[in-house]
Amino acid sequence: LPSRTLSATTVGMKITFLGGVGTVTGSRFLITTDRTRLLVDCGLFQGVKALRARNRRAPGFEPAALDAVVLTHAHIDHSGYLPLLVREGFRGAVHCTSATRDLCRIMLPDAGYLQEEEARFANKKGFSRHHPAMPLYTIADAEASLKLMSAHPYHRPVAVGDLEVTFRPAGHILGASTVHVRHGERSILFSGDLGRPDDLLMLAPEPPPEADIVVMESTYGDRLHPTDDPVELIGAVAKRTLERRGILLIPSFAVGRAQTIVLALERAFERGLAPRAPVYVNSPMATRVSELYDEHAALHRLTAQEVRQLFAGVTFVGSPEDSKALNHKSGPAVIISASGMLTGGRVLHHLRAHAPNPTTTVLLPGYQAAGTRGEALLSGRNTVRVHGVEVVVRAEVAQLGVFSAHGDQSDLVGWLGRIPRRPREVLLVHGEPVPADVLRQRIDRELGFPVRVAEQDDQVVLR
Ligand SMILES: [Zn+2]
Repeated sequence: LPSRTLSATTVGMKITFLGGVGTVTGSRFLITTDRTRLLVDCGLFQGVKALRARNRRAPGFEPAALDAVVLTHAHIDHSGYLPLLVREGFRGAVHCTSATRDLCRIMLPDAGYLQEEEARFANKKGFSRHHPAMPLYTIADAEASLKLMSAHPYHRPVAVGDLEVTFRPAGHILGASTVHVRHGERSILFSGDLGRPDDLLMLAPEPPPEADIVVMESTYGDRLHPTDDPVELIGAVAKRTLERRGILLIPSFAVGRAQTIVLALERAFERGLAPRAPVYVNSPMATRVSELYDEHAALHRLTAQEVRQLFAGVTFVGSPEDSKALNHKSGPAVIISASGMLTGGRVLHHLRAHAPNPTTTVLLPGYQAAGTRGEALLSGRNTVRVHGVEVVVRAEVAQLGVFSAHGDQSDLVGWLGRIPRRPREVLLVHGEPVPADVLRQRIDRELGFPVRVAEQDDQVVLR
């Protein structure tokens, strides 16, 4: 393994980059001192098969020998390996903010359920190389991992062995944090995923504190988000769809994205940009997550009362019967449902029912990965396969790129530039190779900080 030492006096702190490098999933960074072993983020690898296969490999450390885990936030690519870690013998504390814990209570058992479903499906179809196919982990494993969670407020240092860990707001999603890890005089700052300074719903990330090393995300390191007003953009699509009495079908992630879209739509209705119409949120997870915005009102731009008002105007669909009823609904109406790239979930039933109707608009509010139905629709395909049936798409298909929960290149550089003292080194993670390298060049040019893109199994020793 490549190992580099930044200066030489005592044993110091070693960081090993075990995941979330060269890719945006599987974030895992191991910090070791002579007394403590701490894992920062415990993410699941997601996406193409080769990445997912890495979840079944040994993680590069002994789970039972870890003292603690710290989570920057609840997204599965940062938290979703936790149930497996616990099944493999980890018994330490999982430190995070209270909103991250609350989101994990919803998201980890759901991830366990999806793993169980996948294994059941593979066994039914007989296509697994393993007989029988075993789930990566189960709902019960997820629930066991929740018992280890220890929630902390922002800005209050938490002692973990000879380390001190401090959470600060990172925007992005409820509870998301930067994580500052101090060891004596030395410290490392993990950016986690950074939100946008001008997000409609979430607050701006707090500027970085002093740190010797900054480990920073680079998801949109080569991109600038459109500067258009999201309310105007969604208002325009809603106007033409609802005026022709159509269904505005919005496939959306349940965590963060769905709530931001509800807010943008409400603002568009208030401003008279589109005629008011009933809004249905049909995702049990989105419903449960929406309830947390009231409880954690200090973490976003609305008051608890504004949250209650906003969601009181929305119909949260619960039962499968009510979900099915939306397939026979005529417009004007808005249906927001998961999954966000049309890869599964209740939204597929609505797509099947409403895509053949030319008054419908399918509005894709974010990135659509290659091979997904969302991408097929955007590429102009006029049929998509849903539940084994070819569905003819006569609906309008539109995309809005304004609802990202990540800062763009300028936001990332702007955040880093506010660090009070020049860091010894910046290591870029959580990005595909090109975005990470483009961001590296801009940081080098604009801030003049020593910066490089971290690679798998890199080790850095800080003394
Ligand atoms: Zn995230």
